[in-house]
Amino acid sequence: MKVLMVYPESPGSFWSLKHVLRLVSKRSAYPPLGLLTVAAMLPREWEIRLVDMNVECLTDGQIEWADFVMVSGMIVHRAGIHDLAERCRQLSRQLIAGGPLVTTGHADFPDIQHFVLGEAENLIEELVRDMESGQVKHTYSSPVRPDVTGVPPPRWDLLDLRHYLTMPVQFSRGCPFDCEFCDIVVMYGHLPRVKTPEQLIAELESLRQAGWRDMVFIVDDNFIGNKRAAKELLPQIIAWRERTGSTMGFVTEASVNLADDIGFCHQMVQAGFKRIFVGFETPSVESLIECRKLQNTRRDLVESTKRLQSTGLEVMGGFILGFDSDDVGIFRRQFDFIQHSGVVTAMVGLLGALPGTKLHSRLAREGRLIENGALGDNMDLSALNFEPKMNREILVNGYRSLVKSLYAPKTYYQRARTFLRNSRPLGPRMKMSRSSLEGMMKSLWLLGVWHRGRLAFWRFCATTLLRRPRQFQVAMRLALIGHHFRRVADSL
Ligand code: SF4
Repeated sequence: MKVLMVYPESPGSFWSLKHVLRLVSKRSAYPPLGLLTVAAMLPREWEIRLVDMNVECLTDGQIEWADFVMVSGMIVHRAGIHDLAERCRQLSRQLIAGGPLVTTGHADFPDIQHFVLGEAENLIEELVRDMESGQVKHTYSSPVRPDVTGVPPPRWDLLDLRHYLTMPVQFSRGCPFDCEFCDIVVMYGHLPRVKTPEQLIAELESLRQAGWRDMVFIVDDNFIGNKRAAKELLPQIIAWRERTGSTMGFVTEASVNLADDIGFCHQMVQAGFKRIFVGFETPSVESLIECRKLQNTRRDLVESTKRLQSTGLEVMGGFILGFDSDDVGIFRRQFDFIQHSGVVTAMVGLLGALPGTKLHSRLAREGRLIENGALGDNMDLSALNFEPKMNREILVNGYRSLVKSLYAPKTYYQRARTFLRNSRPLGPRMKMSRSSLEGMMKSLWLLGVWHRGRLAFWRFCATTLLRRPRQFQVAMRLALIGHHFRRVADSL
């Protein structure tokens, strides 16, 4: 059996890091972990190829080679999946689609004949049998969420690792919280299911053996969703690092209550964690209560951020505009919060009602959903697929101007300085890769000579070298990704 796995091209967005990739001689930020994991569950004797369209073009010959084509994607891949469906139809190849986009929105794909909805582990056996007999059904789904302790390591051998900035692995699925807008809990549930520490170490080791030395994104929805399991994992990562001399660094997502356990944060840093993404959403308590993000309400969010930064973690943050409780003062409040907390990488998006979420149901009940409203990346203005309480034009204009001011050179470097002041360079030092060094040299030219904000850039370099020379490498990385965010902000 010949199976072609296709990952559609991701449009330029906040997370794509598109404007940085060229500078560090990479083609994509992350490879498709879902497809690599499914590939590992297919029979070993099958011939499997992967085409990541962020890295290479997909040819008709590649599609014709396959008995089946499999695709996976997220909201941003909607158009790419439709295009692929059309190409498969023209070339008479059967397409099987899975992943987050079709799991909650397969009804929008009448052009696709076969779907795997939800997690594949409980479905793969039946699917393989049907593929072999040529009797593939329209839909595969299971009411039972799979145990993840049997999930094999991803098939890294299907990739050319050199094209990627970061490698993804997964330790857990699911989150115990209940944010109204979140579709993670719709897909993966409230009870976090975790791999065993040995399983994750085996995945890291397989990456190391494949030659990976750089950043690894532990793509859990909430790394501390099952904190006891995370606590058992950390000492094993530390021991593995010592045993193998691995230089990998880690980035993950976690809820803000991580700040309540400083000892745990220190252990994360010791294990090689460098950055965490926290969903702050908003400094407005009314909006937090409205979206049921209650874990963010009983605390001083700026203080929690500083506590996390003081352990050596860089805190990246997600922020949302468009809650019913938001008034016109929210733009200034978001700006002040982000600047004061030193959240350098601040992803501000517009609220979108994802299918299957409690928010989607509420807005449907209230008659506020926009029929056939396209749902894009949440930095895409089309994300706002419902009638907001605030005047739509004021909201969209306020959003645009907030993002542009956050990434204006002077504001951005000021925020980066705040972070460097709050932070302490602890934990194992990462070896600078050739591509990072290359990126640093190019950024000196790009940001220091070519682009607007030159003066702010050189001032940032000078103050860092004078006051925090040990953090110069981090400062240069922040300057470089700031360039990407600025370009994204300018395009809004
Ligand atoms: S904390 Fe994050 S992952 Fe958990 S429910 Fe809220 S938004 Fe979703």
